[in-house]
Amino acid sequence: MTLAQPHKKAKALKPNSRRPAKDLCSECGLCDTSYIHYVKDACAFLNQQFDRLEALVHGRSRNLESDRELYFGVHQDMMQARKTEPIPGAQWTGIVSTIAIEMLTQGKVEGVVCVQSSPDDRFTPVPIIAKTPEEILAARVNKPTLSPNLNILDLVEQSGLKRLLVIGVGCQIQALRAVQDKIGLEKLYVLGTPCTDNVSRAGLQKFLETTSRSPQTVVYYEFMQDFNVHFKYEDGSTELVPFFGLNTKELKDVFAPSCLSCFDYTNALADLVVGYMGGEFGWQWIVVRNETGQEMLDMVQNHIETKPVISKGDRKAAVQQGISAYDQAMTLPMWVAKLMGVVIEKVGPKGLEYARFSIDSHFTRNYLFVKRNYPKKLDQHVPEFAKRIVAQYKLPKS
Ligand code: FAD
Ligand code: SF4
Ligand code: SF4
Repeated sequence: MTLAQPHKKAKALKPNSRRPAKDLCSECGLCDTSYIHYVKDACAFLNQQFDRLEALVHGRSRNLESDRELYFGVHQDMMQARKTEPIPGAQWTGIVSTIAIEMLTQGKVEGVVCVQSSPDDRFTPVPIIAKTPEEILAARVNKPTLSPNLNILDLVEQSGLKRLLVIGVGCQIQALRAVQDKIGLEKLYVLGTPCTDNVSRAGLQKFLETTSRSPQTVVYYEFMQDFNVHFKYEDGSTELVPFFGLNTKELKDVFAPSCLSCFDYTNALADLVVGYMGGEFGWQWIVVRNETGQEMLDMVQNHIETKPVISKGDRKAAVQQGISAYDQAMTLPMWVAKLMGVVIEKVGPKGLEYARFSIDSHFTRNYLFVKRNYPKKLDQHVPEFAKRIVAQYKLPKS
């Protein structure tokens, strides 16, 4: 990307003041900057524009006739991977942090946008522009809450950075892509993670209190491919809570409205995506969307082992059953939930089929959420790929 069209300045709004997307705002940070001027075009919740932005970033929009692209977006390669020497304290094995460190230390970029924690609360995100490997390492592990990553945009421009790596989730990257030619960069690299079911800090507290045995000492959690939520605690102990045992009635209101209306689970506009949902248990999942993404992945080839993706099982019956169970807010007794988890782990979807299971379950739920709460937005807001995915299932009429 060579660019630099000067952008019209507007007065930034103060954090927490009015957001044009109102209840649907995911607090991506754009509105805390002078780039708020572009919000109507850039905000993922005011202007759904996957086709245009995919073409801008990847040179083409996704091929809806290809099952893989329908689900996972434009890509040229996909694999499972893990670090041969995992980074202690990273969310998975630390591939994201390692790519960022290599990009910085080998001079590809001058700064990395990533998210550290507030000194007072490990789950309150603090976006920064990291300029040392130590600062990148200090940002490892998920802050599983809405994070205003784009609030550093003015700082990027002021500091005169020309080559930048941004790490972020889908809604942040959608807004970033819409303004990327206004920031004055010579080269932008975007390293994305998948993202779903995010929460406000208050929502996270409710989730932890409803689900974990020791909410105050949780240092990490993840919804994993073995159909359990894995918690890690300060004392080094772990706890597994089966998905099917979650208190759906209590948790239905926990997720942020933005995330209940989000269809960018796999971060369609990143150059490279690093998650876990398409990998087998213990492995991360990498999607290379374009040559810039390949350039980033090449930086860590000596640090990772890889193997091809697999796809096993059939998700469809489980997704269909889950739609009404979620709608009726059913919570199973814990022993039934554990038993179901064990059986499904043995015979259920694996690899890419697990990723499709998760996408189908979230897209059907989110489609119903938008239809019921924002019916006028439904047609424009839901992208064509999501409409096709949702159309495979029978949904409740109202
Ligand atoms: P690390 O090396 O530990 O680095 C983590 C990076 O995440 C850091 O650079 C940090 O800057 C960034 N980060 C932390 N919190 C946030 C935040 N709130 N917003 C933006 N960036 C942040 N993967 C899936 O496959 N399926 C999912 O459903 C899924 N949900 C996710 C939800 C959230 C909120 C986040 C942040 C990530 C999610 N991921 C999901 C990605 C996955 O959990 C791992 O982050 C990813 O596999 C990278 O692991 P790692 O060990 O390489 O990362
Ligand atoms: Fe502004 Fe981002 Fe909220 Fe949209 S999601 S209203 S761009 S802060
Ligand atoms: Fe943003 Fe979607 Fe993640 Fe919510 S689920 S934080 S809207 S990418």
